[in-house]
Amino acid sequence: MSITENQESLSPNEAVGANFIRHIIANDLKENKHNGRVATRFPPEPNGYLHIGHAKSICLNFGMAAENNGTCNLRFDDTNPEKESVEFMESIERDVQWLGFKWTELHHASDYFEQLYGYAVELIKQGKAYVDSLSADQMRAYRGTLTEPGKESPDRNRPIAESLDLFHRMRAGEFADGQCVLRAKIDMASPNINMRDPVIYRIRRAHHHRTGNDWCLYPMYDYTHCISDALEGITHSLCTLEFEDHRPLYDWVLDQLQTTYHPQQIEFARLQLEYTIVSKRKLNQLVTEKHVNGWDDPRMPTIAGLRRAGYTPKAIRDFCERIGITKKDSWIEMSVLEYCIRTDLNENSPRVMAVLQPLRIVIENYPADQTELLEIGNHPQRPELGKRNVPFSKVVLIEQDDFAENPPPKYKRLISGGEVRLRGAYVIKCHEVIKDADGRITELRCTYDTDTLGKNPEGRKVKGVIHWVSEEHSLPAEARLYGRLFKLPNPDNEENFLDALNPDSLEILSNCRVEASLANAQPESRYQFERTGYFCLDSVDDIDGKLVFNRTVTLRDNWEKD
Ligand code: ATP
Ligand code: MG
Repeated sequence: MSITENQESLSPNEAVGANFIRHIIANDLKENKHNGRVATRFPPEPNGYLHIGHAKSICLNFGMAAENNGTCNLRFDDTNPEKESVEFMESIERDVQWLGFKWTELHHASDYFEQLYGYAVELIKQGKAYVDSLSADQMRAYRGTLTEPGKESPDRNRPIAESLDLFHRMRAGEFADGQCVLRAKIDMASPNINMRDPVIYRIRRAHHHRTGNDWCLYPMYDYTHCISDALEGITHSLCTLEFEDHRPLYDWVLDQLQTTYHPQQIEFARLQLEYTIVSKRKLNQLVTEKHVNGWDDPRMPTIAGLRRAGYTPKAIRDFCERIGITKKDSWIEMSVLEYCIRTDLNENSPRVMAVLQPLRIVIENYPADQTELLEIGNHPQRPELGKRNVPFSKVVLIEQDDFAENPPPKYKRLISGGEVRLRGAYVIKCHEVIKDADGRITELRCTYDTDTLGKNPEGRKVKGVIHWVSEEHSLPAEARLYGRLFKLPNPDNEENFLDALNPDSLEILSNCRVEASLANAQPESRYQFERTGYFCLDSVDDIDGKLVFNRTVTLRDNWEKD
């Protein structure tokens, strides 16, 4: 399926894990480029929770370091105090660790504020930066366009001493927010607009979650980032393609300051995933406007949301390896991510029985006071995962749609007068269908064949096998079935991405019954509910007397292809 005119989206078979940065680093090591060192960093801004796009960057940065015996720092790029918070910072640390990575050093750009200020003073002294008093509107007008050069500000040739004095006074709080800025003096005629005397400091009276009210001026991202990289001795500064046009500025700043290290910036394509959004700003909007139930809502493409839905760190890491690292923008089908978690859970999750929409079966020839404990294996291919005892008794529950009064062709489950095997137990036969006054089926009367435990019945074939639980022993549960958060592959194409929200992204089944062995299930534990999907015990919501399960993914890829 193609998402736009000229972009194909990758399906599981097409995502093959190319990584051009791996080759660059191998080559750098061969040439002893950074003294044989590999030092990377993951530099999030703490203005939201991490999403699956960040996972791509995390796996790349930590992965390249690990593969090459190098280091990888976690650095908070915290230069926009209004949007950042301790909550976001903590969530980022938690998510990186949960993904399975350990940073070498933890840094904050705000730790460098004093040094960054010092470097700015140095640039002014070199005549490479000046304080400009143009208003924001004027500055925009002076900037020029892609086709026209910019115009120099009247302040551009302000004497160095004057800029120095003004800059100190900016720090001392003598000017109002926005009254003046510090700009790098580069080239107003550069074809690259980023080089037209970019602003490197602005005045902003905002409380910073780490530095409090120490500062009323804050450095801009481009200026901060390259210096932070250099201070940490980063060798390969890996970032997404939108920074390609910023690379000349990255290099320019470090060239002027002649820092000890001059990291090499390499850009790669962002992850774009269909039917969702990977932008902290927009995810924030979903949360604050309550379109979802928080950052960790299992429909969210955040690490916290995926985790709560039942994704494993391994599946997310596999996904990141599989989609690869390229220079070319491409879309990834949601089925690639689902393929990764399905593969992991198929291999590793224990099987249990849970009935999502129960129908009562009374086994008339089964003694009312009897309970049998049937040993059932936890995993069909992995006997080492053991067995459990599942209680069987006179009244069992099966799925409503495992019985049909008017069966469609090839229906292999229970029908009136027909037989079916209860998984791990006996063959039962339906004799009577009981209905309420509205004609709804409320109960089936059945008998069981005592000679069918663990063996085929004599003289006939019973094809269907369905799951069940004992009514008396089963536990009440709620199952939350999640669908796509958006109904269009690229919600960003819409004028308002919220218009593309899928109103049916959550279905709650609140009368489920699960087998007794789940009584002690721990939050975040993952199971295959036989025949219905992979589920994870919710770690947040506590409903009195009920286990809450989130469906991680269906058993098979059954999203309709459109
Ligand atoms: P957002 O718009 O979601 O806030 P961002 O790029 O502004 O994204 P940062 O916190 O600045 O978010 O990102 C930290 C790192 O993660 C950066 O190096 C950035 O390039 C990378 N990153 C962010 N989004 C993606 C993505 N979709 N695919 C790959 N890498 C990403
Ligand atoms: Mg950002």
